[in-house]
Amino acid sequence: MGAPAKRVCNVCRKRFPRTLKHWNKQPRRKDGLDETCKECAKKRAAEWYQANKERRRAEAKEFREDYRDDVREEKRESRLRNIEQVRAYQAKYNRENSARRVEYTAQWRRDHPKKAAQLRKSEYDNNKERIKQRARDWYRANRERALAQLAARRFQCRISSTVRRSSSFDLSTIR
Ligand SMILES: [Zn+2]
Repeated sequence: MGAPAKRVCNVCRKRFPRTLKHWNKQPRRKDGLDETCKECAKKRAAEWYQANKERRRAEAKEFREDYRDDVREEKRESRLRNIEQVRAYQAKYNRENSARRVEYTAQWRRDHPKKAAQLRKSEYDNNKERIKQRARDWYRANRERALAQLAARRFQCRISSTVRRSSSFDLSTIR
């Protein structure tokens, strides 16, 4: 065998002997050596690495942003879940304790009649419009019942005034 044949690099067009000193291995080729010389291959690899680095950096940034959004979303959802839990707990507590609270309030009113009266008055003064509106709403929704109540009250008044009238004259009329 004489000196190895030379070959032109497909990038820089320089001629190099076909040895591993000048060419990388390329098992897919018949002579087992690359078509690009080692120098050009090195340069190409460096360029590829740079380009890839940029791409990888961009991908990593994108991933971080997606992840951050996911984290944000996850936090928001967990907050919502907790709010629902807290609300459910409060509702359950209120349900279970409403009877006890009503009893407590009634007892407090009995124990503090003056304060209770003041409180009721100030509550009324502070919520006059709301209370009136609620009464109007209730009346509108329960017209029949309201009229029946009114009739019953009028009937009661008539009886008591009859009683009053008669009692001033003769109590025997109502016996
Ligand atoms: Zn070359």
